Amino acid sequence: MSVYWNEKTRQLKPYIPGEQPRDRKYMKLNTNENPYPPSPKVIEAIQKAANERLKLYPDPTCLELRETIAARFGFKAEEVFAGNGSDEILAFAFASCFETGDREKLLLFPDITYSFYPVYAKLWDIPFAQIPVKDDFSVDSGVYLEMISQGKSSGIIFSNPNAPTGIAITLEELRKTAAALEKHKQVLIVDEAYIAFADEKDTGTAIPLLKEFPNLLIVRTLSKEASLAGLRAGYAIGSEELIEGLCRIRDCFNSYTMDRLALEGASAAIRDAAYYKEINSRVIATRRRVASQLKALGFNVLPSQSTFLFAAPPAEKGKSGQEFFTALRERGILVRHFNKPRIADFLRISMGTDEEMDTFLSACGEIINKK
Ligand code: PMP
Repeated sequence: MSVYWNEKTRQLKPYIPGEQPRDRKYMKLNTNENPYPPSPKVIEAIQKAANERLKLYPDPTCLELRETIAARFGFKAEEVFAGNGSDEILAFAFASCFETGDREKLLLFPDITYSFYPVYAKLWDIPFAQIPVKDDFSVDSGVYLEMISQGKSSGIIFSNPNAPTGIAITLEELRKTAAALEKHKQVLIVDEAYIAFADEKDTGTAIPLLKEFPNLLIVRTLSKEASLAGLRAGYAIGSEELIEGLCRIRDCFNSYTMDRLALEGASAAIRDAAYYKEINSRVIATRRRVASQLKALGFNVLPSQSTFLFAAPPAEKGKSGQEFFTALRERGILVRHFNKPRIADFLRISMGTDEEMDTFLSACGEIINKK
């Protein structure tokens, strides 16, 4: 605390991202980065853009990148926003979509979800309620529909698949939620950070719903699906009015959120869909294999549609989630542990390469069998 901070700054509880150790001695399975490198075409595009034109500001509207995204998904550039990672876009979306004035109407999201959501809500003074997920950790969409119909909502954000559980919401549930909110002219944001890894029937991107719902905003990132966490690039697709709202907030904040290198790299990534389809299907295959091997070791593994697994070590072996996390760390393996009610027994394990996951699995076996 500092005497130079204003009241608001004193009250904030900032989001804490997963550890990025400076030394190389850890195997990182803690921040959901893609284990495979970005497309060589992305590196080439960035290298080409590293030239004397860096003395000039980048395009504040990110037009070329937005056109590339629009063409890929069948939209107009006016229906696409591009920004410096999806965290920043989410911050803009909270500011532009959700009400601050009315304390009776609440922004709704699950109690177990991306822990940045309550941070943004508090930053922008948005009243919110965290709706408990069911005992199986799936989202209880009926509760949301009821609150909307009782006039208690001001909007909803879902991470789909959810983080850190990895469980996906069906498109039908999203359709019903968007339709109910539209009656009240309220917005549904679907954060699709991990959607490229969802392969279950009835799940998948909500992009097809955009043609039906002007109140639906889809936010995506290139951090995971395009192996570009280090570049900082994300995008949103939605009706022109929702996109214009995002631009209004950005332009009250920072005209140039994406630099020249990020714009070129991101465009090249969007164009090279074939490369990413291949590496991302490898991540999905690894996730399936690791899930079944963890189950064989006695873990309770939630049905993940994401780049990570959320799994609790076998209780009868007497190690808490925290102790298991520490035992893995001592063996040079970093996973994520959230010391929070309902999920303190679980570990979130990002998928590495197959070789890394073999090392991880044998460490788990060793820890479980240690007296
Ligand atoms: N949404 C979710 C659910 C996430 O887990 C993350 C990554 N921490 C993000 C958004 C942000 O991704 P980025 O800012 O790297 O685009």
